[in-house]
Amino acid sequence: MRRQHNSAVLIVAGLSLKNLNPRVWDPESPYYMRALQAVMVSYADFHAMPARRKAAMEQGLHASLGIPFSVRIFLDNGAFYFINRHEELPVKDYEEFVAAARPDWYPIPRDYIPTPGMPADQKHACFTRTMEVNRAYEHDGYVPVIHIGEYLETYTTAICEHPKLAGKPAMALGGIVPNLLRTKQAMAYADILTGLLHMRSRFADKSLHVFGIGGTATIHIAALLGLDSVDSAGWRNRAARGIVQLPGSGDRMMADLGKWRGRRPSDDELSVLDQCRCPACQVNGMDGLRASGTVGFCYRATHNLWVLLEEAGLIDEQLTTGTYVDWYAGHISNSIYRPLIDQLLSKCGHGEADFSQR
Ligand SMILES: [Zn+2]
Repeated sequence: MRRQHNSAVLIVAGLSLKNLNPRVWDPESPYYMRALQAVMVSYADFHAMPARRKAAMEQGLHASLGIPFSVRIFLDNGAFYFINRHEELPVKDYEEFVAAARPDWYPIPRDYIPTPGMPADQKHACFTRTMEVNRAYEHDGYVPVIHIGEYLETYTTAICEHPKLAGKPAMALGGIVPNLLRTKQAMAYADILTGLLHMRSRFADKSLHVFGIGGTATIHIAALLGLDSVDSAGWRNRAARGIVQLPGSGDRMMADLGKWRGRRPSDDELSVLDQCRCPACQVNGMDGLRASGTVGFCYRATHNLWVLLEEAGLIDEQLTTGTYVDWYAGHISNSIYRPLIDQLLSKCGHGEADFSQR
């Protein structure tokens, strides 16, 4: 596989309808960041909040949430939420919602996510049932969903052999997140990478979204693979636990919120944070990152998303100028994903030349 580097991977920031702050997409908000181009909302939230659902269907998603049309809204079907609660997603409700609320991107109404510890027959059942939904929604703008794991190649073959699905312009891959939690039965990182490479090469002409891998280190992998978009709610989840992200070197505990423990920033890292140009640090500096309550959450979340968007921009710049290979090793030396990036660069034979021709 040799792909030219064409454009940056789109970072889709996961939102929660329970608390829309910080309003990072809103030019009127102190937390606004221009670089943000896409957000993701979950249908599970609308299912749980009927008034929000009604407003989105009456006014359209953008207007009801106050999100400008320049920011794309991705909808998640909430499959993970419904599975965890052993609830069936009301498929017709989802269809109605999509038609009226008009998200920019939306997957099939339901997919059945295999988890690492599942017996083989259940994993097969997940594949069969998800493909049934993919076939049932071969029309309109529904994005087919497939999952990483033993059945990935069976999935890609089934899609490629189906006349309508083969022609779909976009595709989504799920099931990675349960494998990133290092349980005993989780897939080896190398096998996940092989799966992603397989999907990219089988669907070379499609716009590919991978659910849940939008972290500061994993976006390197996404960019090298030429994925089109990734999402993550990590910027908010980390902020809620008092954690801030540092460019290239991961998570540090800034606010002691009692319940959680984590690695504290070193003096060098504190001076990096002191220089941060994000909208929150510009005004409040490190005191803001250490604050408790909703305000502290908003500062840390804004900072975390900013770091992520900056990282995506830096990666794009390095790939465009052909300097990535010399740059990345010094930039992300501490990450557990570093060996995967090394492997990916050698596997694909990516040299500087591959990325320098736009
Ligand atoms: Zn900051």
